[in-house]
Formats: sequence, structure tokens, C-alpha cells
Amino acid sequence: MNQFKLPYHLIVEAGAFDHIPEKMDDAITGIEKKKMIFVTEENLKGIFEDRIKKICDQFHQSEEYLIQRADYDSAVALAKYITMNDIDLVIGFGGGTVLDLAKFASFVSKTVYISLPTTLSNDSLASPVAVLGSTGKARKSFKCTIPHAIMVDADVIKSAPVRQLLSGIGDTVSKYTALYDWKLAAKKDTERVDDFAYMMSRMAFDSICFFDGGHSEMTENELKTNSFIRLLTQALVMGGLAMEIAGNSRPSSGSEHLFCHALEENFSEEVSIPHGIAVAMGSYPAAIFQGRNHEKIKNVIKQYRIPVRPSDNKLSRDVFIAAWQSASASRADRYTILREADLSDERLGRLYDEMEAIF
Ligand SMILES: [Zn+2]
Repeated sequence: MNQFKLPYHLIVEAGAFDHIPEKMDDAITGIEKKKMIFVTEENLKGIFEDRIKKICDQFHQSEEYLIQRADYDSAVALAKYITMNDIDLVIGFGGGTVLDLAKFASFVSKTVYISLPTTLSNDSLASPVAVLGSTGKARKSFKCTIPHAIMVDADVIKSAPVRQLLSGIGDTVSKYTALYDWKLAAKKDTERVDDFAYMMSRMAFDSICFFDGGHSEMTENELKTNSFIRLLTQALVMGGLAMEIAGNSRPSSGSEHLFCHALEENFSEEVSIPHGIAVAMGSYPAAIFQGRNHEKIKNVIKQYRIPVRPSDNKLSRDVFIAAWQSASASRADRYTILREADLSDERLGRLYDEMEAIF
């Protein structure tokens, strides 16, 4: 049997951040009396000052910690601070950068961690992985555990730009090609597929792909409803649980993520595309390389109007080609379809043109 942890709570409600101890007390006894550190960043403090104060006021002893850099050394320094000061509860409030740093610091210091995402732009709110800066420009994924509790306040999510929701949808769309690559790696005897993790990740994809019958285009107002925010949260959390069960990120990360890593690692001066948009952009070519039903990916991207046209993201033909050609090397230990696909300049150039035309 695999060993894994499940969060005590997954709460998605409008106004949820106003009642944190009340909602969590059954699982985390005496929570309001715990010594809490509230981890966020400067610009979020500016945007959410009143809300942050209201959250901290719910605890008898709390302090704020504004992150300066989202790298490994800063996460370990925070873990040391938590241990030295006998803090027993960490709350991460923000997007992927803050959540990953707070998650890793609580993992190292063995403290209870509550994830309060201010955006649903990727699966960091519930993943057992922290992406942190390491030496130089490279960012690395570090294994940790899934949060003890995840709380989403629909009012906060609605206040963020819709592009962030589209990014979260894109991160979920990418599971279609990630799951195929995982099976392919298993056929090559480089991995073992965990059936339950596979099923959960597939369900996350299906819930987004077939939402509302998967036909009509979704408007911003339709995305910013409590019911859609709940659905997307559940999809992202299911993706996180799938990784926790599998013990690695294979259920959520395949060749489309390698394309995104290659863009981040080799072309960060030319382009900066949100993670979920970049992996959705990578999912269409990856589905074609895999010989799959790429119409399904095209339709779901169009249904949600995820902005994947390369030139709209300032991604040139040359960089698109070079990113695919260097994608496999960004995680050399991962077997994906990229080891077998025709990645010639000519074919990738045609794919770029096709994506410019259809999206
Ligand atoms: Zn991702």
C-alpha cells in the first residue's frame, strides 16, 4: 500500500477567510491559540491590507512575514525562524510563489500548514511540491507534502484578473497529455503508473473539459461564479492529491510541462508566460506528437478562451521551435513523447503557424 496524507479540510466559500479558526477547529484543535506566522508578499499586503489584518486578528498570537525572494535558501531560513521561535502554525496567503515557499518552510519545520490561495492560477495551492529558485536562474521542484488544510475564499478569487483563472484551467487541461506521457514512460519501464493517481488526475481533466457539456464559450461572468470557482478548486486539488498518491508529479506533468520549463529556463529574457497558459499552449502540440485527439484539446482551449496563441504571448517562431527542441533536456530523467517525436524546424514551424491560425 502507498503511504500518503490527505488534507483535513478543503473549504471553498465566499467570505471563508473571515472564519478560519471556526472552520478549522474540529481538525486543528485550539487553532486560534496557536502561535501563527502569516506568510505573504509586499504587493499582496498592499492589495489586501484590511483582509490580512482581519485574518491575523482571529489568532491570539500572530506575526506577518513578507517574503523577499522565493528561493530554497529563503524557505530554509524561514523554516529555521519558525523552529527557533516555537511557531506551530503557518498560513500561506498568495499565489504560487508565496504558497510554495510557505509550504516548504512548514514541511521542513514540521508545522501545520494552511494554504490560502489568492488566485487559482496553478496547482500550487494543493500540490506536494514546492518550486523554488536554486542556483543561478534555474527553479527546481522540491518534494514536500500536501497542505494540512486548503481554504478558498471565492470573493478573493473573483477580485483577481480572469487571466489567472484561465491559467488554472490551463494547468488542468495539461493533464491530458501528462497522463499519456506517464503511461508511455511505464511502457518503457522507466516509471510505474499508480491507477488511483491516474484516475484522479483524469477526473480533474474531465471535470473541466466536460463542464457544461463542453460546448458553449464561457464568459468572464460565468467563470467568476461560486460554482465554477468550486469546480476549478476541486480540479486543482484532485491534481495535487494525484501527485501526493503517486509520490511524484507525473500525473500532472508531461511533455507540455517540459516545454514550459524550457521556456522558463532558456528564454526567460524573451518571454514570460504564466505557467498554466504556457502548459496549455504546450498541450496542443504534445497531443499531436502523441497522435491523440488534439481536437479535444483545441475545443477545451477555445471553450474557455485560454490565450494560447504564441504571438499574443510575445513568443516568436524561433523561440517556439527552440523551446520544443530543448524541452526534453530540461528534465533529462523523464521519458515523454518528445524522445520519439519529429521535432524538426520544419514540423515545429508548421505547428507554430497552425496555432497562430486556429487560436
Ligand atoms: Zn503545472
